[in-house]
Amino acid sequence: MTSTALAQLRGLRLPQPSPATRIAAGLIALIVSSLLLIDIGVGLVPDQQAALQQTRKRSAENLAVLVTELAAGADQAGLARGIGAALARHDDIRSIALRRAGGELLFQAGDHQRHWVAPPPGGSTLDHARITLRAGNSHWADLEVAFVPTHTSAVARFFADPLVRLLCALGAGGFVLFSLYLRRVLSYLDPSAVIPDRVRAAFDAFSEGVLVLDPQGRVMLANQALVAWLGEDADALAGRAAHELRALRHMHKGSPQDLPWMQAMAHMRTLTGDMMELRAAGSAPRKTVVNCSPLADGRRGARGCIVTFDDVTALEQVNQSLLDALGDLEASRAQIEQQNVELKKLATRDPLTGCLNRRAFFEAADALFRRSQAENLPLHCIMTDIDHFKSFNDRYGHAIGDQVLQSVSGQLSAGLRETDLLCRYGGEEFCILLPGVDTDQARAIAERLRGDVEAQAGPGVRSDQPLSVTSSFGLARLEDELAATGDLVERADIALYQAKRSGRNRVVLWQPGLEPENKGGSGAH
Ligand code: GH3
Ligand code: MG
Ligand code: MG
Repeated sequence: MTSTALAQLRGLRLPQPSPATRIAAGLIALIVSSLLLIDIGVGLVPDQQAALQQTRKRSAENLAVLVTELAAGADQAGLARGIGAALARHDDIRSIALRRAGGELLFQAGDHQRHWVAPPPGGSTLDHARITLRAGNSHWADLEVAFVPTHTSAVARFFADPLVRLLCALGAGGFVLFSLYLRRVLSYLDPSAVIPDRVRAAFDAFSEGVLVLDPQGRVMLANQALVAWLGEDADALAGRAAHELRALRHMHKGSPQDLPWMQAMAHMRTLTGDMMELRAAGSAPRKTVVNCSPLADGRRGARGCIVTFDDVTALEQVNQSLLDALGDLEASRAQIEQQNVELKKLATRDPLTGCLNRRAFFEAADALFRRSQAENLPLHCIMTDIDHFKSFNDRYGHAIGDQVLQSVSGQLSAGLRETDLLCRYGGEEFCILLPGVDTDQARAIAERLRGDVEAQAGPGVRSDQPLSVTSSFGLARLEDELAATGDLVERADIALYQAKRSGRNRVVLWQPGLEPENKGGSGAH
């Protein structure tokens, strides 16, 4: 047998006998087996076979006496009349015959040839008796009596037994009577019958599932909607523990006492809003909201619980699609935000070096300038210009020139704080604002940056030959007389010009008397 055929067989549900039928059958079995035991022990019913055999033996013996007397005194005709009269008197006898010891038939009454079946030598059977007749010591003849046969087949004999008949009658009759009686009596005890029909009909009218449980959590009633959702046979539900129903079995991983209806009964309070999934075999899971209302028994205990199941599967699906849509919206919002960040970066940053562009720099620098001035905080500006940058372009090409720019800006950026501003000011010029540090510190920072560029910027470029990259630095501090950011930047630029003029790869602090670039000199930067 294949596994599918086995599974199908297992799925078959035989109709269950009602409790009344089962109890009646059990009672009858008990009574019948008790009677059998009593019969074996003390012989409840007399053995009819033995009694009949005794009676027939006596009749045959009486006949033998009669025949002996008739044979002694009367003639042949008298013997025949006497035996004929005896045959007529006994309804139980079909034929009588007298047979000499040698086997010759002396006389017969009735159709003896047909009815006589010889029993074993020297004996008789229930239906055929043989009596030995003696004259003195000699055996002169046998009297053969054929009785009306008792039942022939073993089955007929079995059923002729009065005990068997008694038990059969008691079994059949008793079973019917017990069933009827128990059905009536059990209607008061059957949990499913505790609910009046009109209440049941009212529950059946609900579109939501309704379950009425007893204090042990066993089903007393399940309305039609719930029976359909559970995928169970309605008649087989009554009396079963709710947590063992196939559709609910997955709900309690721990103790069944944790289930909401058991909790509701334990604490005598209504529980609402529990989500429960009904998983009936062969249908899609159904999401339900469960409400449990315990029924008070008047002594602070629960007499049962009414559990309702609201099918929210469709609502859940709508909910889920809304959540999905919300997720999509979130994703596109995050995408837009990301694009905005990138747009802002494009608008504020130099694409080659990632430093602030001039416009963004001045926006932030102006605010910093005003605040530093208002709060009398130190502010320094560095202008730096890569030395002989043109030669990298000329010697190695623009791509290497770009790498030099990126490497230098990388060194500058790595050496600054979050609060500092770094801007690509022109081709290979960078402008830096350092808030909150005094001039010595600013000079030290500029020196460190210069050293970093000298040591790291060249090796940071992927070129065939090692590059030596340096940068010149001009430093200026915020003074009271400066009116705007541009003034501070200009002073730093003047100092840078001086740095270029005095040999490059150095830091020069602006001081009065330094000449601006256009007032002569050679070192354009
Ligand atoms: P100095 O030491 O006096 O500053 O000499 P210099 O060669 O660095 O100065 P100059 O002003 O003569 O040359 C600057 C060159 O920078 C000119 C220009 O072609 C180049 N340049 C400007 N922007 C870029 C850029 O984005 N990429 C590349 N590869 N070169 C650039
Ligand atoms: Mg230069
Ligand atoms: Mg320049």
